[in-house]
Amino acid sequence: MGRIGVLGAGLAGLSAAIKLAEAGEHITVFEARDRPGGRVWSETLETPNGCYVIERGAEFVLDGYISMRRLLSQFGLSLVDTGMSYYVREPGDMPGITCDDIIRTGREALKLASSSDLQGTAEALLAELPGDPELVDALRARIEISTAVSASEVTAKSLHHIASFEPKPSWRVAGGNQRLPDAMAGALGSVVRYGETVRAVENISDGGVLVTTDAGTSVFDAVIVALPLAVIRDPHVALPTNEARSAALGHVLQGHAAKLHLPLETQPPTSAVMSVEGRYWTWTATDESGVVPVLNAFMGSPSAITRANLSQYPAEWVAKARALRADLTIPQDASALTTVWSEDPLAGGAYAAHAPGATAVGTALLEKPVGDVFWAGEYSEPEFVGLMEGAIRSGERAAGRVIQRLQTNSRNSDSERTKA
Ligand code: FAD
Repeated sequence: MGRIGVLGAGLAGLSAAIKLAEAGEHITVFEARDRPGGRVWSETLETPNGCYVIERGAEFVLDGYISMRRLLSQFGLSLVDTGMSYYVREPGDMPGITCDDIIRTGREALKLASSSDLQGTAEALLAELPGDPELVDALRARIEISTAVSASEVTAKSLHHIASFEPKPSWRVAGGNQRLPDAMAGALGSVVRYGETVRAVENISDGGVLVTTDAGTSVFDAVIVALPLAVIRDPHVALPTNEARSAALGHVLQGHAAKLHLPLETQPPTSAVMSVEGRYWTWTATDESGVVPVLNAFMGSPSAITRANLSQYPAEWVAKARALRADLTIPQDASALTTVWSEDPLAGGAYAAHAPGATAVGTALLEKPVGDVFWAGEYSEPEFVGLMEGAIRSGERAAGRVIQRLQTNSRNSDSERTKA
């Protein structure tokens, strides 16, 4: 049995810890916050119609979330259909352009991209699209909102998943997404140490890894770093690296996003309306009780977040969202809940996206161990980058690698003992 340190109790760290615990390893999870889940963060919002669970972070369970669905059923949790599609958004500030126009242009872009193997940026692809510049901008907005980075930086491959245009269904965890990390952390019990911030991780020359937190030091046989990209890039947390890893990290972009929640007077129909100009979208969706009387909004891309100046003028986004959604009854005195992820030092942004040049081989290098230090996190996942599913898959892969390494080490020491 090995002693394994897991850094971060988001979905990546918790998935790794659960798999290691199931394999009988001794684990300790260090989490700086006082709760598990990281960027999965459900809270209750008061509305004139009662209290409802909203998602301040990750919301939609999307197509292909096989690992997340497996974990949900392992912990006795279920999904609820949102009653609308994450992928389909009506442009609310572009008269004359419909959702169908965007879907059609999105499909054309994908067809065009398949001939060039999606090697360039999304912007390079948009530049090749014939047709109405306003429609192309609506498509650009859709890409920038969902990837949370600029179309001129992100790979055109993002159109395949996170910025897809196909009207597929989407779900949420019944009772709130936070229920999954809560259940996982609950199963792990007291090995999860909250309020303990990691400051440094160091391979020890004769084997093992030294972890320094603000509470002291510990030595492990192996460590899984499941911290967000921005924290990994932060010089205040000293982590081992090598040339290949640094080069691979160079192709990973940090996305920025914010969310807004506004209580509604009456129960609305489900809806999804995007502001092309403001680079945000708004929606109303169902939970297990029916359509929730809350307007949800998500703004994505660094330039949109900077332009909106949310920390100084949060009321401006509220006013704009009210105007965009004049179809809804938002009480005049409604208290708005704004969450700006870039301002959270334990996240440093929303989620990652890949730039052109992030090949499958390069992305695999992000998970390659440096000594006895292993890596997990949504940023390192080739297919589900930026998403809950990516975080879970990366965590489980890291745990698998650690288990394999421990088995190899134990076989080697057995054969050395036999020789001796
Ligand atoms: P995290 O959840 O960030 O976990 C890392 C943990 O490390 C955190 O708990 C953090 O507190 C901790 N930590 C940080 N620094 C330290 C330190 N120095 N010491 C100790 N602990 C530390 N995904 C979807 O699938 N669907 C969506 O609809 C969706 N929408 C999103 C909307 C927003 C606004 C945001 C922000 C994210 C969204 N995501 C969505 C992405 C999803 O939240 C992430 O991909 C996923 O939760 C990341 O998990 P993780 O474990 O890699 O990182």
